[in-house]
Amino acid sequence: PPLIRLQGVTKTYDVDGSTVTALDGVDLDIDAGEIFAVIGQSGAGKSTLVRLINGLERVTSGTVVVDGVDISTLPERQVRPIRRRTGMIFQQFNLFASRTVAGNVMYPLKVAGWSKADREKRAAELLDFVGLLDRAHAYPDQLSGGQKQRVGIARALATSPPILLADESTSALDPATTADVLDLLRRVNRELGVTVVVITHEMDVVRAIADRVAVLSAGRIVESGTAFDVFAEP
Ligand code: ADP
Ligand code: ADP
Repeated sequence: PPLIRLQGVTKTYDVDGSTVTALDGVDLDIDAGEIFAVIGQSGAGKSTLVRLINGLERVTSGTVVVDGVDISTLPERQVRPIRRRTGMIFQQFNLFASRTVAGNVMYPLKVAGWSKADREKRAAELLDFVGLLDRAHAYPDQLSGGQKQRVGIARALATSPPILLADESTSALDPATTADVLDLLRRVNRELGVTVVVITHEMDVVRAIADRVAVLSAGRIVESGTAFDVFAEP
């Protein structure tokens, strides 16, 4: 079975007594081991999709199965351990400004109850992987945007989640830095076997990295296939 499966997913919000449909009958299968992109313009429903996959919100109807667990109806308490199976990175990096690079990477391990020695060992391993071992004691505001995102990736992978969800993770970066971060995401996929889900509004990002892509428009998947097929010139 696919690692992530959405079936007939509809999500509506009640805004001042009227209904806004963010997702409308979305079917989506993401296989273990692939780099899958969801592309769409602002308002298409991308953030809603992210929040449904990482269990921050529940569907209005339909099902969301992640790593064998149907999370569409689970109460918050039961979703929490499952949420830790999905690493997240963000457009604005969301690093803890008051923690060092190593402290940021160790944070999820602290939450998960790892010992200090184990946390330090794991953080060193991850910082080595992302090429930032020499900045372990720096603070986020001493880093470039690309370095911050590499810390974000290290932190997201700390507890070895099978899925990495990248939410507009290169939108704040210049093209050269974007290319570096995408190279790192490719290594995460190939070398660590992590399934990477890229949410973006940028076609170049999809072209550069995705095995498959789904195009989201006004809450519906309007096209899907290999990046080559979907973006082929007519
Ligand atoms: P995208 O991430 O592609 O910009 P969103 O998922 O944020 O799209 O939004 C899809 C639609 O759902 C938009 O019309 C947006 O206004 C609406 N929406 C998203 N989140 C909420 C919310 N928490 N409350 C009300 N409306 C929302
Ligand atoms: P809980 O669901 O147990 O309250 P959190 O939602 O605070 O835990 O955090 C769950 C995991 O998400 C943490 O282990 C941490 O790695 C990660 N996390 C929390 N806050 C952030 C953030 N601002 N940016 C990135 N990752 C975060």
